Amino acid sequence: MIDFEIPDELAALRDEVRAFVADKVVPYETDPRVTRHGPNEDLRTELVGLARDAGLLTFQAPRRLGGREPSHVEQAVLFEAAGWSTLGPVALNCAAPDEGNMFLLSKIADPAQTEEFLVPVVEGRQRSVFAMTEPEGAGSDPNQLATEAIFDGTDYVINGRKWLITGARGARTWIIMARVAPNSSGADGPTLFLCDGDTPGIEIERIMDTMDRNYVEGHGVVVFNDLRLPASAVLGEIGQAFRYAQLRLAPARLTHCMRWLGAASRAHAIAVEHARTRTAFGKPLGEHQGVGFMIADNEIALQQCRLAIWWACWTLDQGAKGRHESSMVKSMVSEELFKVADRCVQILGGIGISDETPVGAIFSDIRAFRLYDGPTEVHKYAIARQALRSPS
Ligand SMILES: Cc1cc2nc3c(=O)[nH]c(=O)nc-3n(C[C@H](O)[C@H](O)[C@H](O)COP(=O)(O)OP(=O)(O)OC[C@H]3O[C@@H](n4cnc5c(N)ncnc54)[C@H](O)[C@@H]3O)c2cc1C
Repeated sequence: MIDFEIPDELAALRDEVRAFVADKVVPYETDPRVTRHGPNEDLRTELVGLARDAGLLTFQAPRRLGGREPSHVEQAVLFEAAGWSTLGPVALNCAAPDEGNMFLLSKIADPAQTEEFLVPVVEGRQRSVFAMTEPEGAGSDPNQLATEAIFDGTDYVINGRKWLITGARGARTWIIMARVAPNSSGADGPTLFLCDGDTPGIEIERIMDTMDRNYVEGHGVVVFNDLRLPASAVLGEIGQAFRYAQLRLAPARLTHCMRWLGAASRAHAIAVEHARTRTAFGKPLGEHQGVGFMIADNEIALQQCRLAIWWACWTLDQGAKGRHESSMVKSMVSEELFKVADRCVQILGGIGISDETPVGAIFSDIRAFRLYDGPTEVHKYAIARQALRSPS
């Protein structure tokens, strides 16, 4: 039976997270260290320190790694609270890509890999990247993966070019997707490798200028130039990269939805306050039906998104893989929250597109959400294929 009642203990933690973000993190939103390429490492370290002091850092981690291991539904409640500021997840260490990478590593890293590459990320001491997307290869269709790993009898030698790699500059824990070429020594195919970002052969070509500003150190173009890794750098099994990426994707899509639900709720609260207090044509903006309808549409969309996220989380908590459910929810939520943010900009009038409030930034940040972890059209393509395969 689906039961979405929030127990007292969870409500108390949610309120603690919400108060932490509102009181301690929001004041940093105008900090000059929030740059064209997102918060820089210096700001991240300071914010993480605040969450550590508050006892809230990486609350979503497994208990064996010092976290509170909330269920997926519990995460939905907590991540929404964290997302009230786009810096909230950065401070609490539940932002992308680290959060999804920690989840994946906690499932498949061996004990030595866990110690070297996962524990420092959980502790907020270093960041991680997931390097899949390529200008000429993998994107919506990972089968186009072009980065190649050639086994020379001792090491894997990796060559390729990636882009849109979030947080590449300064990250130490690198998960790299490459195709192991057929070889006489064993398995081949799409494989995940795990290594230190300082390994010779990893070259950051440049940081891309993008319309979003919420991800630490932005998104990099990266070249792997004869990157030489030992067999111990293989993460999980050779040839299983797509299976592992799927393992990461369903929950990671949903945590994106949760964080953006928090941010969109913030934009809505600001827009409602504006509509309540600013007047035009003799009455508050909100009392004009055109504005009232936008407020009502936002209220409806936010609650619809919340319930959809909780439902998909519930299926994961029942042990389902949730691939189909998370696809449906991710495509719907990313589209609806974008519309919420757009209406908030409209209600604010001219200041909606300025940095006078966080709404303009939330609008540009949330636009990107319709693209990553599967563009809407790709999710719909998968949903339609499923429906065609097994008509109801
Ligand atoms: C902010 C941001 C952060 C990112 N971070 C990372 C990261 O850290 N690591 C990483 O590896 N990647 C990252 N990405 C890349 C992201 O995963 C890709 O952008 C995404 O997979 C889409 O691939 P693409 O950009 O190559 O688009 P393409 O594959 O070129 O697709 C372009 C468009 O074609 C349409 N399309 C594609 N396939 C279909 C289909 N089957 N049916 C209908 N329409 C279709 C869609 O509208 C799609 O938007 C990030 C992207 C963004 C925007």
